Amino acid sequence: MMELKEDYKGYRGQTLECLLKYEAMVWCDVEVKTNDGTFIGLILPRSEQADEYHIVLKLRTGYNIGIASEKVQDIKINGRKIAVYKIPEKEFPFDPKKPNVKLLGTGGTIASRLDYRTGAVIPAFSPGELYGSVPELADICNLDTQKLYGVFSENMGPEQWIGTATAIVKEIRAGAHGIVIGHGTDTMHHTAAILSFMVQNSPVPIVMVGSQRSSDRPSSDAALNLIHSVRTAAESDFAETMVCMFGPTSDEYGLLHRGTRVRKMHPSYRSTFRTIGDIPIAMVDRKKFTPLRNDYKRRRDDRDVELMPFFEERVGMVYYYPNMHPDMMDSMIDNGYKGIVIAGTGLGHINKPLYPALKRAKDKGIAVYMTVQTLWGYVQMYVYDTGRDMMELGVVPCANMLPEVCYMKLCWALGQSSDLNEVKRIMLTPIAGEITEREPSNGYLIYQGGIPEVEEFISKYRK
Ligand code: ASP
Repeated sequence: MMELKEDYKGYRGQTLECLLKYEAMVWCDVEVKTNDGTFIGLILPRSEQADEYHIVLKLRTGYNIGIASEKVQDIKINGRKIAVYKIPEKEFPFDPKKPNVKLLGTGGTIASRLDYRTGAVIPAFSPGELYGSVPELADICNLDTQKLYGVFSENMGPEQWIGTATAIVKEIRAGAHGIVIGHGTDTMHHTAAILSFMVQNSPVPIVMVGSQRSSDRPSSDAALNLIHSVRTAAESDFAETMVCMFGPTSDEYGLLHRGTRVRKMHPSYRSTFRTIGDIPIAMVDRKKFTPLRNDYKRRRDDRDVELMPFFEERVGMVYYYPNMHPDMMDSMIDNGYKGIVIAGTGLGHINKPLYPALKRAKDKGIAVYMTVQTLWGYVQMYVYDTGRDMMELGVVPCANMLPEVCYMKLCWALGQSSDLNEVKRIMLTPIAGEITEREPSNGYLIYQGGIPEVEEFISKYRK
């Protein structure tokens, strides 16, 4: 019985009947004839939650497709090769001359599917498994790994942020030459922001990494992102909290983004992470680092890192849209929220009907901060008198802090103090580049591609 389950993993109902009819099983190399044509590939196992109407085939191109079992006219079996789920564990070699890097895992695609060669799914990542799947890592450093969590990143929250910050500081104090954090990409920029505030004065690089494409696809970015990030942690001079992911859509180089200026900008491109309103810290490839600016914090030998694990949970964010009704804001006020971040339109606007809610928030001592949903550029509340009116009502403009970064910083600031003047001082004092004096003229379009001056700028850095 057990054997049957493995051979038909995830299939039930009409798809299971269809497979049984043609004597096909999971991992069979097949030609499936359907009403829509013939498809050649490998039958993949399905997850327990998958529907019961589709057979999933990995095509020769590496892409997976679902074929409705009711459309199947015939299945011809050409062979069967059972994929190995577990990557062979090889002992990660230790070389006393190499730097020691700690990889802390929180989950996401990068942690769950790392075997980019076989396409098999692995659940975790011990050093041995990592070495088995990305052997280049051993040329770079001595790698030690620890799984902190195993969640998709939408499930990260204060407990995990504080836990990760605490683990980072512990490893730095214990002598790690660099830290890598494996994380789901969806909320990597939220975590990068809060870690930038919770872990301060790090003497070594703290590099967040993920993968945008699951590693069972030939186009996966998992291995290269790992190599780039581990190299950055081991060898680079950038002692900041950064995100390391594909720069261009090709695998030419990775970019190191400052943790407070980075944002996921595309749900599926591998080059999804962009530095907003500024330029990235550096480019990284297999051989070198190319700094794109020189104001980064340098690596040091001391261990004087500071842990500031503060977090107030009763903070909300409002993405303003025209015709928003005041009850949206009232509900936060009535439910005891202590802080509200607004992502306003243009220079930082919301409509007049919301002003009474702002007044109520002010009277209740709730901290209200304004950011711009244009993402690039600065809040400007002196340009129109509506901006001045809002400031009268206690709204604090947040310069060019990104909305998510502002949200994280307000949680962190209110976690330290309930004195609104002190909170304001913390909020408006830049700690890790979250507010910058000016946006560089090439910051807006940088690396968006396809525009001659941007291409020319990039070509200066390409060798
Ligand atoms: N949904 C996943 C996550 O953010 C995507 C990824 O790992 O990149 O956890």
